[in-house]
Amino acid sequence: MEAGRRSSTKPVQSLKPTKTVSVDEDLTKASDALPLPLHLSNAVFFTLFFSAVYFLLSHWREKIRTSTPLSVVTFSEIIAILAFVASFIYLLGFFGIDFVQSLILRPQTEVWNSEDDDEVADVLLRKKDARKVPCGQALDCSLPPLPPPAPIVTVQKVLDENPVTVLTEEDEEIIKSVVAGTTPSYSLESKLGDCKRAAAIRREALQRLTGKSLEGLPLDGFDYESILGQCCEMPVGYVQIPVGIAGPLLINGREYSVPMATTEGCLVASTNRGCKAIHLSGGATSTLLRDGMTRAPAVRFGTAKRAADLKLYLEDPDNFDTLAVVFNRSSRFGRLQGIKCAIAGKNLYLRFTCTTGDAMGMNMVSKGVQNVLDFLQTDFPDMDVMGISGNFCSDKKPAAVNWIEGRGKSVVCEAIIKGDVVRKVLKTTVESLVELNMLKNLTGSAMAGALGGFNAHASNIVTAVYIATGQDPAQNVESSHCITMMEAVNDGKDLHISVTMPSIEVGTVGGGTQLASQSACLNLLGVKGASKESAGANSRMLAAVVAGAVLAGELSLMSALAAGQLVKSHMKYNRSNKDVSKASS
Ligand code: ADP
Repeated sequence: MEAGRRSSTKPVQSLKPTKTVSVDEDLTKASDALPLPLHLSNAVFFTLFFSAVYFLLSHWREKIRTSTPLSVVTFSEIIAILAFVASFIYLLGFFGIDFVQSLILRPQTEVWNSEDDDEVADVLLRKKDARKVPCGQALDCSLPPLPPPAPIVTVQKVLDENPVTVLTEEDEEIIKSVVAGTTPSYSLESKLGDCKRAAAIRREALQRLTGKSLEGLPLDGFDYESILGQCCEMPVGYVQIPVGIAGPLLINGREYSVPMATTEGCLVASTNRGCKAIHLSGGATSTLLRDGMTRAPAVRFGTAKRAADLKLYLEDPDNFDTLAVVFNRSSRFGRLQGIKCAIAGKNLYLRFTCTTGDAMGMNMVSKGVQNVLDFLQTDFPDMDVMGISGNFCSDKKPAAVNWIEGRGKSVVCEAIIKGDVVRKVLKTTVESLVELNMLKNLTGSAMAGALGGFNAHASNIVTAVYIATGQDPAQNVESSHCITMMEAVNDGKDLHISVTMPSIEVGTVGGGTQLASQSACLNLLGVKGASKESAGANSRMLAAVVAGAVLAGELSLMSALAAGQLVKSHMKYNRSNKDVSKASS
């Protein structure tokens, strides 16, 4: 309370104005210093250059003809030489830098062909021991120094034309009434009709109530209208997460730059290295095995017999068409694929699966399920609906049903990584990778009783891509189910790697996908919004990208581990000259 009283004396304009750089300021160019417009300056110096060259050459030819020594220069020749040097320097400065930079800054795919490689593997290994100190001290994640920045500046227009929020006297009255409890905080948006103002007032009221500062949590620069009634209630600001880019990731002959929102140092760098190995080996192939979102209500009867009657009715193929017509009324995109039932005494769990176009589809499938439940009440009036979701779906919880049956998109993605790429880029060997995969991802996970966790760090990549592209990050639980397989092929020279992911739950419409930042990341991948060619094509492509990025991530982390610990342990336990019996005694 004391803190509350103390803070309530703060001036109304307590939200610090943020310094904004005007668009005009950013557009200032070096050429503005020239007395003439740029094209005129260029024309003058070109003319000067060629006139001086012509003048000097014709004079020197005359001297050679009359046997006059070239070292004897007239005043006009000195002027011509000065003009030549001046115009040459100008033209070199203007055109030369761009030319040199075009040689240095080659596209990334070309850079990937070069022999020198980053040391992501070492960095990842060192990272294991470096958690006690800040990332910057423990790791050197820096890339080699780049040449000076190119003169072209891309100016991002700020989202909000007037980003600084200043609270008024009227706002102060509302803040006081929120602090006093007379105005509910949740009602601010509807009362004020201005989402940003509502957020600013709520934020200030919260700071006064708690006596805690929210400095550091930005308020300005976000479109609060876009989240109203859809993404987040009672906003007081937004959290910033950096977005890094891994890629190009080559899948099914197409390149993708994969956006990853993360605060885990080296994750993007590591995935990027995996993308490089895949690219240099000719790319990955991704295959969609299944596409269907699920929802499973729980219903209860007076007897197990009645529950069994409904199970048999729902699973009878003769009834499917009728049920599908009822289900499909809910949406243009939701199309019933099947119903799988599980019985527990008098209780029945009905797992509906349907296509959902480009939406992740939870709302869509729920609406369809509700239609069917209403329809079933006619023939099964004794059915008690316990809940639209009975956890047999299963959403955001580890569950074998998703691992076995799949949920959302089921994808398998594979690549053959060439032996020399394994050596040069991944700094390990095919043999080490295959052995480590067997010991860690298969045997180790089996020992741990893993459920869908037969991988090194699929959830790292899944979550980073989900946050960047506006997916529901809580669904990383089942979306990260993945088994990573590795095998030596082509007489042991090359590595076949695959990731099988049965429950990737992604959409490119609905939910957080339409927010500005997330939508920009989807746009980068070429999968923004609803597909114009065929409904669902964008979300399926996004699932392929997720699986491909996981493939890259698995490849890189496993290589880092294999290059470090495994090689060392090989040296110690397999190739040691030491007498093992003595060591053990
Ligand atoms: P979810 O079901 O993933 O929670 P929504 O409830 O927001 O997502 O449903 C998606 C909405 O987008 C629906 O209203 C649907 O009609 C609309 N929509 C438009 N185009 C498409 C598309 N290509 N695929 C799926 N839904 C689409």
